[in-house]
Amino acid sequence: MSSEKTEEGRTNFIRTIIDADLDAGKHQEIVTRFPPEPNGYLHIGHSKSILLNFGIARDYAARGIPARCHLRFDDTNPVAEDIEYVESIKEDVAWLGGEWGEHIYFASDYFEQMYNIAVDLIREGRAYVDSLSLEEIREYRGSLSEPGKPSPYRDRSVEENLDLFARMRAGEFKDGEHVLRAKIDLANPNMLMRDPLLYRIRHATHHRTGDDWCIYPMYDFAHALEDAFEHVTHSLCSLEFENNRELYDWMVENSDVPSRPHQYEFARLNINYTVMSKRKLRQLVEKDLVHGWDDPRLPTIAGLRRRGVPPSAIHSFIDMVGVARANSTVDVQMLEYAIRDDLNMKAPRVMSVLDPLKVVLTNYPEAEDGEAAVEWLDADYFPRDVPMDGSRKVPFSRELYIDRADFMENPPKSFWRLAPGREVRLRYGYFITCDEVIKNEAGEVVELRCSYDPETRGGEAPDGRNPKGTIHWVSASHSREAEVRIYDRLFSVEFPEADPERDFLEFVNPESLRIIKNARVEPSVVDDPADTRYQFEREGYFWQDPKDSSTEKLVFNRIAALRDTWAKKQKTPEKPAKVVEKKAKSANDDADSKSSRRRPSKKPASYERDQARAQDASLAARFESYQQDYELSHDDADLLSGDLAVAEFYETALETYNEPQTVATWFVNELLPELSERELELGGISKELLTPEGVAQLIKAFADERVTNQISRQVLGMMLDTGDMPEDIIREEGLERITDTGELGALIDGILAENEDAVTRYAAGKRKLLGFFVGQVMKASGGTADAGLARELLQQKLPEPAE
Ligand code: ATP
Ligand code: MG
Repeated sequence: MSSEKTEEGRTNFIRTIIDADLDAGKHQEIVTRFPPEPNGYLHIGHSKSILLNFGIARDYAARGIPARCHLRFDDTNPVAEDIEYVESIKEDVAWLGGEWGEHIYFASDYFEQMYNIAVDLIREGRAYVDSLSLEEIREYRGSLSEPGKPSPYRDRSVEENLDLFARMRAGEFKDGEHVLRAKIDLANPNMLMRDPLLYRIRHATHHRTGDDWCIYPMYDFAHALEDAFEHVTHSLCSLEFENNRELYDWMVENSDVPSRPHQYEFARLNINYTVMSKRKLRQLVEKDLVHGWDDPRLPTIAGLRRRGVPPSAIHSFIDMVGVARANSTVDVQMLEYAIRDDLNMKAPRVMSVLDPLKVVLTNYPEAEDGEAAVEWLDADYFPRDVPMDGSRKVPFSRELYIDRADFMENPPKSFWRLAPGREVRLRYGYFITCDEVIKNEAGEVVELRCSYDPETRGGEAPDGRNPKGTIHWVSASHSREAEVRIYDRLFSVEFPEADPERDFLEFVNPESLRIIKNARVEPSVVDDPADTRYQFEREGYFWQDPKDSSTEKLVFNRIAALRDTWAKKQKTPEKPAKVVEKKAKSANDDADSKSSRRRPSKKPASYERDQARAQDASLAARFESYQQDYELSHDDADLLSGDLAVAEFYETALETYNEPQTVATWFVNELLPELSERELELGGISKELLTPEGVAQLIKAFADERVTNQISRQVLGMMLDTGDMPEDIIREEGLERITDTGELGALIDGILAENEDAVTRYAAGKRKLLGFFVGQVMKASGGTADAGLARELLQQKLPEPAE
């Protein structure tokens, strides 16, 4: 697999088992497989199995151990299967990075071998042809409390069984007339061991073998044989097959097969607000509730791909979920988070206006000879904290569009954007003030007349005034029209399958697709490769729909919103986002339950903050405003807006020292780490110990260079220990930075005298000792020395080192 983000370097209980098997010399090579039935498109649940199986093969191979993963189509049921599904599965597995090389197999290629093994079982008296109906077989099988009773056909002679089975194959009987059963144990507490079916008659055309066969093997019989034929060592499947393992082992033991694979079960991936079975997904497709298997609302791999989700986002999601033996339902917000988090680091920022409202800048030059006057403004593609570069030019002209939501005629106090008489900053552009509101006959606002301040190009005013709001915009004549498709969750309830009385189809969210016909996007997007994933500033992540978009008619899919908009809509969030862990059904491998306990799903703290904002609109607004208005980096804004106590503490500190970026940097780098080291939270600290005013005072002392970085950290510790104000501590302890050359010089002379040896070595050419001396000065001064000055004085006072 190509991505480094998958399971790399991580372990899970399956890898622990494989390591132990290798240590014990049980295997010389590791073979896994991904065995889909081609009866539908793959969904995100399958990606867990794909990344696990192919990831194991890749990682062991990288360690020099022969390892591979097979792609095997479990095509033993002709009725629901189709070649279209085979092709789609190959595409999806490859897209996720699965590499099978030459190892692509079809169960149907083994039909003859399987038939021969069935004949062997009959010869050995381990299988018989039963002529009861399926209904009767079920009745005879008994129940958990009651053993099964033998079918009257159980003791047919080997000859009769061989004859009947050959005639079943030859097509002499109708569907359901006979079946082949294993002869195992009718009293076995595991119902699957009570003479399971091995073959049934199906007069149906198979997508690969055509009409060659009219008997088809059952899953348990076929799957164990397929694994054994292919020398699979570790056969990984989901937990619902746990009871089948006994039968799997029986098959391997009682057939003449070239290898002995073992089955291990792991928890299936379930996600709320969706359904995850090919059969149910097919209903949605066939009933036209969605537009095909690749509808971007579906949890299919094809749907996610078309929506614009990068494979790396699925890798990190699966990584967050982890592999364990405890069944769980993962909150879809975690998937949405993984997508946003992935795109945040990669997506160039551009501007689009989804709900255009015209703005005319009355003091901007008019068009001449039909040509609009235009300025091309510099605009960076990435914010400071994203390690990517690039910029483009954005056209600015007399007529613009802004988003309708960024204007209010009668704004409440908390509204910081455009309103009559108010000034806002246009992103990358100028400050504009709304002078006049134009309405149509129905009283709707159709246009704003504004004036711009030519002195504010690039977003700064010479007089330092700083409008609170910054909004995005596009030039009316230069922007391009685009259709924008906004996707929401496909189901409006958390567990659409939960109510046995109701069909899950009833819960399809009627607002899961909203189409905006006349959005406007800045012209640069047309020049970029069509598969660029953008952040439309303040709107979300978008890319061009790979099927429907063209340069003539742009169509953008929203891949993800910038933050969770769903939880806000619900009055009382039913459940905070979390992984709902259920106990594993049993724990018969001891490796497993331990490892699932030791490794709970990896939920990064930033995910928790994202969730907090999803539940609390005031935090979400702060996240946006910290970036827009204080120009904090995404990460700093995230850290400060994920918890109300932190946000309020930060804002109160600004009242004392109004330098949002300096204060934020210090919070993020000094205050929050120090608190977390002491296992303290801002919300829980008593005012006696730490006040926002005190913290602001300390940051100011540091920013004014009155204390060094090291001392500021030390003072914070003393504040937390004593509750004293920083200025008092600095004064009483004499912690002010030493910038006095005389004072520092005297200190240095003392140090040089004490370290004659080092001075001699320095003179002999060991230049690196300079750092040692600086360190000694810092130590002797208790961290108060100005490190730059100390270095300078040391260089003056030390002998010139030899070359
Ligand atoms: P579906 O009910 O969606 O058809 P399935 O289990 O029948 O699922 P298969 O095509 O047989 O689908 O699955 C191929 C592999 O993918 C199997 O090994 C199966 O265990 C695994 N798998 C399927 N669904 C999930 C899931 N939700 N989470 C993890 N693994 C899964
Ligand atoms: Mg299935």
